This record gives sequence, C-alpha cells and structure tokens, in this order.
Amino acid sequence: MINLSSKPPRLLVASHNRGKVAEYAELLGDMRVDWLTLDEAGVTEDVPETEDTFRGNATLKATAYARQTGLLTLADDSGLEVDALGGQPGVWSARYGQPGFSSVDRYRLLLRNLADVPWEQRTARFHCVIALAAPDGELLGTADGVCEGLIAYEPAGDGGFGYDPVFLLPERGLTMAQLPAAEKNRISHRARATVAIAPLLRRLLAGE
Ligand code: IMP
Repeated sequence: MINLSSKPPRLLVASHNRGKVAEYAELLGDMRVDWLTLDEAGVTEDVPETEDTFRGNATLKATAYARQTGLLTLADDSGLEVDALGGQPGVWSARYGQPGFSSVDRYRLLLRNLADVPWEQRTARFHCVIALAAPDGELLGTADGVCEGLIAYEPAGDGGFGYDPVFLLPERGLTMAQLPAAEKNRISHRARATVAIAPLLRRLLAGE
C-alpha cells in the first residue's frame, strides 16, 4: 500500500537561485521530491568552478556539495560555445571579457570578436551538463543537453538572460531573448539535459 504520509526524498540542487530550482521542479513535475537550494541545505561556502569542461565543473559541484550535506545532489554547468572562436567562451561564459563586465558588455565583446565572420560560420550552441551525486559523494551519472543556433549581428529581445539577445534560432527567426519564457524552457540546453538525466533520477528516487 502507498504510504501517503511518508516524506518525499530530498534533492539538493547546487544553486542559490530559487528560480533555477523551480525550473527543475517544473521540468520534472511528475517526481515527488523535496527540492532544496544550497541556502536551504545550509551551505554557506561555494565550490569554485575550477575545471575546464562543463562535465568537470558539474561533477565537481555535485560530488562536493553531496559530501558536505549528505544529500542526493544535482549540479549543472552551462555556457555558450561559438564555433568560429574554437568553442569559446564555453566554461568561461560568465567570465568572458574583463572582471566587472555586465552581461551586455559580454555579448557586445562577442559581437565585436565576430564582426567579420559571415553567417555560415556563426554557428554556436548553448551546452549544459547535469551531474548527479549520491549522499556519500559518489558520482552517479551525467547528461548533456544542447541547443543549436547562430550568433546574430545585433542583439534583439529583452527576455531571458546572458547571451540570449544574440543567440538566434534560425528555424524560429527569433533570438532566444524574443521567445516566450515557456518556449525557451522547453527547448533550452538545460531542459534537454534534464530530460536526459530524468530516467536515472527516477530510478534513484524509486530506490532501485
Ligand atoms: P550557468 O552554468 O547556468 O551558471 O551559466 C554560465 C553562463 O553561461 C551564464 O552566466 C551565461 O553567461 C551563460 N548561459 C548559460 N545558460 C544560458 C542561457 O540559457 N541563456 C543565455 N546565457 C546562458
């Protein structure tokens, strides 16, 4: 018999951002989980992203926070890979350019660095890797999600964040910042990585 009074299993999402945690909870809406942010789990010190791959950083964060808290932990790392720049800014997306740059400064720098690059060479993707770690810190699995597009010549739209105003979805003829939030959340790199990690998470939560 199902015990309706039992508490749902706790899952730490390695982020201080309630919005990000809510996005995961919505994407994985069929799972009975008590979603926790780092603050709610009592974590006060951030694990620095010192690796040079998305997988490395996601793994580092998931395993370290799991060990610290004793909780099943999900961590992600993501960014923008631009082919004409050899995959930059990649894991350095949040730190592209100079310290103190705003996200507008960062995408303006990107546009300057691509000023002479023709359309056919402006291919790029948002890439996200999600890692899951057991309460003892063991890595249980990772999953990738990508969203392909082109870097526009000019920014457009005021939704989203980061590089969204310059990331063009050719099949929609719109930048990511012009898409309704619900549509972005369906097609994003993070949504796709979440769909890819969901079967493992479901098995873990079912205690298999
Ligand atoms: P994080 O891994 O989610 O913290 O993302 C790292 C950086 O990648 C952000 O600061 C943004 O610059 C960029 N980025 C990641 N996801 C997105 C997105 O969905 N839109 C725009 N920029 C993003």
